[in-house]
Amino acid sequence: MAALIHNAQQAPVAQHGTRERVRADRLQLLYWQSFPAVFMSVAVATLLALLVWPAADHHAVAIWMAFIVATSLARLALFAAYRLKAPEGMGLLAWERPYFVTLMASTLAWGLGSAWIMPKDSFLHEAITLVILVGMAGGALSVYSAIRWLAIATIAVVLLPATLWMMTHAGRPGLYLGLAVALFCLSALRATRVLSQAMQRNFEMTYELRQAKEEAERLASTDVLSGLPTRRAFLDEAKAPVHYCRRNILPVSVIVLDLDHFKQINDTHGHVGGDIAIHHAGQLIRSSLRRSDLCCRWGGEEFVILLPDTPLEEAAGVAEKLRRAIAAFPVPLPEADIAITASFGVAEGPEPLDRLIDRADAALYRAKREGRNRVVRAEAGPASGPVREGDPPS
Ligand code: GH3
Ligand code: MG
Ligand code: MG
Repeated sequence: MAALIHNAQQAPVAQHGTRERVRADRLQLLYWQSFPAVFMSVAVATLLALLVWPAADHHAVAIWMAFIVATSLARLALFAAYRLKAPEGMGLLAWERPYFVTLMASTLAWGLGSAWIMPKDSFLHEAITLVILVGMAGGALSVYSAIRWLAIATIAVVLLPATLWMMTHAGRPGLYLGLAVALFCLSALRATRVLSQAMQRNFEMTYELRQAKEEAERLASTDVLSGLPTRRAFLDEAKAPVHYCRRNILPVSVIVLDLDHFKQINDTHGHVGGDIAIHHAGQLIRSSLRRSDLCCRWGGEEFVILLPDTPLEEAAGVAEKLRRAIAAFPVPLPEADIAITASFGVAEGPEPLDRLIDRADAALYRAKREGRNRVVRAEAGPASGPVREGDPPS
């Protein structure tokens, strides 16, 4: 219960450098994109094995397929563990190394293995192998461009061994085919740069937008003067604990407090002095509450506190403690410390929050009439009872 309520008034998540955040975002994208790529790799390897089978060393092809399947299984196991753990934020970066290691193992199996099984005495089968490798390199370009060096390394490792062999051992046709592959590599190199830059900008913009949204939400929900939540944020955050208490027939109390003779403070010490007094009161209120209590600056020099799972007498005790604290700690103004007091209205009830606040407010005005600097309990509210499914939200 305390955790449920406290979460509502927690600070925004810790900020991290854009570079690190973008690095984590890129990795996350790779993990999500790579899952189908593993199946594609096994499927294409099977097709290549079938295509070269008539002219290739069967023993070598079988060993190569075993390597491809083993590295693919290792990658699948990694992806399954990743999904199970569902790491977030900077925790993602711990998954970077295993990703690179398993990808490189699979890429080496492709690059070195395909050059090894390629039938060396049949130009047709060599050409088939190279065409399939170019296709694999194209796939790598589209999947791994989120990290440019990774895309380049993957393409190079997949293509280089077979291409070099063709250029040096398969005569003039092999040389031409190798040059065609080199041209493909050049345009792939350029494509990785364009793709990677576009993604980088995209990631950065997403991150900046996310940060701006968080900041806007923080500003909208925090009152700059008192440092307490605004009325709107308070009413939003109060819904869940109030509903929880009503449902479970737990008492909910509200304290409304208003600083006494505040106009005089403004008149004597100026608006700035009044502002300092509001900030001072906000800090005292915040520090005197439990983590599960909610509070806000309701408006002007008036504050509202919600005490879930707290009966009237206990709430009145909290108000009394706060009243004494406000009276005991003067406001430190530059010219002098000034003593302030506040009046309190306290109400407990099962009714919706707005009506509970109204009753506490009525008690506050009685406190003002009765001489200020005091706590007044509200009259008993309507009979309590658990909330039913059809009840209006409070
Ligand atoms: P009471 O004891 O009856 O509450 O007397 P009061 O003078 O505090 O009551 P009243 O509500 O009449 O006056 C509140 C004053 O608070 C009027 C308004 O100018 C001032 N005030 C409202 N918001 C702010 C603010 O943000 N900063 C400052 N400095 N003053 C504010
Ligand atoms: Mg006042
Ligand atoms: Mg007032």
